[in-house]
Amino acid sequence: MAGQTYNPYDNVLKVMDDAAALLGYSSSDIEALKYPERELKVAIPVVMDDGTTRVFEGYRIQHSTSRGPAKGGVRFHPAVNLDEVKALAAWMTFKCAVVNIPYGGGKGGVVCNPTELSERELRAITRRFTAAIAPLIGPDQDIPAPDVGSNAAVMGWMMDTYSMLKGHCVHGVVTGKPIELGGALGRNEATGRGVMFTTKNIMKKLGMEFKGTDVAVQGMGNVGSITAKLLDEEGMKVVAVSDVSGGIYKKEGLNIPAILKFLGADRKNLLKDYEEEGMTRISNSELLELDVTVLIPAALENQINASNVDRIRAKVIVEAANGPTAAEADPILKEKNIVVVPDILANAGGVVVSYFEWVQNIQSVSWTEAEVNEKLKNIMDPSFEAVWNIAQEKNTTLRMGAYLIAVERVVKAKKARAIWP
Ligand code: NAD
Repeated sequence: MAGQTYNPYDNVLKVMDDAAALLGYSSSDIEALKYPERELKVAIPVVMDDGTTRVFEGYRIQHSTSRGPAKGGVRFHPAVNLDEVKALAAWMTFKCAVVNIPYGGGKGGVVCNPTELSERELRAITRRFTAAIAPLIGPDQDIPAPDVGSNAAVMGWMMDTYSMLKGHCVHGVVTGKPIELGGALGRNEATGRGVMFTTKNIMKKLGMEFKGTDVAVQGMGNVGSITAKLLDEEGMKVVAVSDVSGGIYKKEGLNIPAILKFLGADRKNLLKDYEEEGMTRISNSELLELDVTVLIPAALENQINASNVDRIRAKVIVEAANGPTAAEADPILKEKNIVVVPDILANAGGVVVSYFEWVQNIQSVSWTEAEVNEKLKNIMDPSFEAVWNIAQEKNTTLRMGAYLIAVERVVKAKKARAIWP
């Protein structure tokens, strides 16, 4: 990743400070939000398949519980570090606030490379990590979910480990679980579906045609692949996609169902081995710089930064990933009249349906997929509208609009509770 000194938590602090200034808040109003409430670092010893013992490092951070239990994913990736997890936890606080669901923000991570681990090794890491963070998590305290490198199977193992430690079945401790364990129908697709709703919403506001319009998607994991699938099904032309191995481009539009079939056949399959007539291979940086109408970064942080922002040509960026745009790039994108729909709004579909899953678990009820999708739309659309309106009213970016709403909600909750003791 570009930018050696990049610190995502500095990004969070900068945007929060800017929003607080626009809201007329004093430094005391937001001081406590600059510090995560809890930071736990754990060592995770695991016996590997070759008989050696390796110790992995893991984190669970609760940024804020002012509006409800901490909520946020668990990332398994070699680049995981404390500042990244802190930033991801804080983004969850503001994401839950902007869509007004009763959660604070948390995040976890383990420094490991799941693509190099056997399933048994991954399960051992998951179980030991869950045991190590067990004192902090629980349906009323902190509820993990999938993020980069983790998935429904990992959530199933987390739920089982926590339940074993408690001595009884605790469905609501994690979301994004397998359906058989109380997972919500529609959760797997929820983040991508929310990105699709958001893309439609922004294009409508900007008076742009949705059907037939070209879009490039960076990252073909859970979020990127479902986003590409739904945008393709709804009639957009997906001209480029990429994963960690690089990207592919086809002016007439790629065969998304064929790509998804290829990637879904084996979790180790990568786009570098995919073939389609008429496509060309491009790098991840080339994908970001394509002359397309819509660009959807759905991989990692800091993809659009000082080093490439001058070359970005998309007209609209919908942030499916968390933190794909570095703070220094935002004003330049604004100058270039590139509209950015911020992560805390655009990718909130995942946590919204996680909330639905938790509500169903607590009440021991289950909703149909159609009900879930409809309820998701009923949260995503008004949230978009509110962000759009405040950004227009204050003549600011959609990112700042989203933060104005989110920071105000969190600060009001903090004030209503007052500082204890
Ligand atoms: P994932 O592990 O399922 O997929 C990540 C994808 O990114 C993979 O295709 C991987 O090959 C690709 N990738 C990795 N490094 C890359 C690089 N340098 N360039 C291009 N592609 C690269 O992860 P995910 O769950 O899809 O998460 C993607 C992003 O969306 C993250 O920022 C995550 O925090 C965010 N997000 C996820 C959810 C969710 O529900 N899973 C919800 C909200 C936000």
